[in-house]
Amino acid sequence: MSSTATLPSASTLEPLRPEAEQIVARYERRPAAILSVLHLVQQRLGFVSMDAEAWVADLLGISVAHVHEVVTFYTLYHRQPVGTYHLQVCANVSCMLRGGEHSLAALSKKLGIAPGQTTPDGRFTLSTVECLCACEHAPMMQVNDTYVGPLTPEIVEQAVAHPDQLSPAPLAFRGAPGLNEPVLSARFTTPGSEQIATYVRDDGYQMARKAVTELTPDQVIAEVTKANLRGLGGAGFPTGKKWAFIPKDTTQPKFLVVNADEGEPGTFKDRYLVERDPHRLLEGMIIAGYATGCRKAYIYLRGEYVRSAQILQQAIREAAEYGFLGKKIFNSAFDFEIVVHRGAGAYICGEETALLESLEGKKGFPRLKPPFPAIKGLFGCPTVINNVETLACVPALLRKGGEWFAKLGFGRTGGTRLFSLSGHVNRPGLYEASHGVTLRQLIFDHAGGIPGGRALKAVVPGGISAKILRADEIDVPMDFDSLLEAGTMAGSAGVIVMDDATCMVKALWYASKFFAHESCGQCSPCREGTGWLHKVVSRIADGHGRQEDLDYLLTVAGNMEGKTICVFADAAAWPIQSYITKFRPEFEYHVRHGRCEIET
Ligand code: SF4
Repeated sequence: MSSTATLPSASTLEPLRPEAEQIVARYERRPAAILSVLHLVQQRLGFVSMDAEAWVADLLGISVAHVHEVVTFYTLYHRQPVGTYHLQVCANVSCMLRGGEHSLAALSKKLGIAPGQTTPDGRFTLSTVECLCACEHAPMMQVNDTYVGPLTPEIVEQAVAHPDQLSPAPLAFRGAPGLNEPVLSARFTTPGSEQIATYVRDDGYQMARKAVTELTPDQVIAEVTKANLRGLGGAGFPTGKKWAFIPKDTTQPKFLVVNADEGEPGTFKDRYLVERDPHRLLEGMIIAGYATGCRKAYIYLRGEYVRSAQILQQAIREAAEYGFLGKKIFNSAFDFEIVVHRGAGAYICGEETALLESLEGKKGFPRLKPPFPAIKGLFGCPTVINNVETLACVPALLRKGGEWFAKLGFGRTGGTRLFSLSGHVNRPGLYEASHGVTLRQLIFDHAGGIPGGRALKAVVPGGISAKILRADEIDVPMDFDSLLEAGTMAGSAGVIVMDDATCMVKALWYASKFFAHESCGQCSPCREGTGWLHKVVSRIADGHGRQEDLDYLLTVAGNMEGKTICVFADAAAWPIQSYITKFRPEFEYHVRHGRCEIET
């Protein structure tokens, strides 16, 4: 596999030019198609060679240097051939909690290669990756485009003996306990729920039709504002307010961008919405586009979600056939077009301005704000960016009214929410519940408590960036404001549960590794800080910690907060601060004894 003499050349790509040109035509500007064209190239060659970079540069009218920096920024592009079967094992916290290290070691032993290597026959490449956002099936791996898990010894055996016979991991929707009327998951268990025929049968697209043909944009925004709908990607910003920021009196085109770049470790909700009810999302997008005057929308989908991309593409084709997308939809004067755009493996692209840079065909470098995207977003034009889950709330909200939706919620947050539960719970999976559900209810009533009769030790309530809570802090409602008061955040509602056998140093090692890996590197405090934090946590975990290390970690973390272009650096600091502050004696034991006190 290492001989360049046998590698396919760029001339192999010429037959792809017509397909590549079709991809380019979806975008406002040719360079914006780069990620999609690189996906096509890699599908053909198995990797992106230097020759291929030159071919893409020629196709898009950009420099080879630009293509090269994009290829090297995103982790999904291979610069060398990989094996016929690429086994990518998740090496993040939720998988660690469910034995991911053992699965990786078993695969490594059976294949006779270390992570990062390819077997001599070119059949297998073994890699570790950061969170695949399928934590309900931890420990997880991705085999080529297929998600496989949980990794039992039998599946590990099969992956090596018959990798072509592996079954994709099923979805693990666990229901909507405590809700009379689920909003987001109502159709998750309907057979054929992803098809337009069933969606229309269930009164789908009626609210989009009503909005476009009977309501003014201001009336739609007023209803969304009344509903107290907040951004469910994690920020919790009021959606009605965000839509109202989009200028009405501009001659520029306006864009709607859906943030489906689900990447927060511990979170897997958007994938369910996209795969089980894609038309609900599309309908929410039509309503949002109409309310804000956007006639074109992009769905920026996590690159690994290949199956989700196929489902979305099919849903868009169906909606266009029904006259719900395209020119003069619902026989109105409103045109609306949706393009699915796959990312390429960069957590930072979940940050809205990094996402816009990426969508324009560049490295995912967050932008300084202001200007905010509402004024200067995609291609310099006014842009509204919403998360999948937020938009999926909109059809129901319009059907039953903003007041109903607000009452369904808790405190200042309307509606309901999807909670991803992973780690040490008996029933990991996705739950829809009220924002007022407490962590205790989620863990013990809904997810069945802690396996093996062990005790709860700690919980991350909102994805890995959220500050950790101790077992005695879980009687807190899961809405944005209550968790903020409790000193943490609701974030993406990815709940990672840790039992009393969990080593907090090891858990922090995984978290700090993630942030060191995912920093985009623009700002020195973040680039250097995340690296230092991980280095010092590694020293403690390896049994070589120094007395001064804990205070040193807190000082470095403190120097990162609020001093960078985006909040990634703050998010990297929060686990360091909260793990050490809340479990300091355990960290001190590690430093003093060079090992974990809970090891037997
Ligand atoms: Fe990049 Fe980190 Fe700076 Fe954000 S804070 S822009 S991730 S270097």
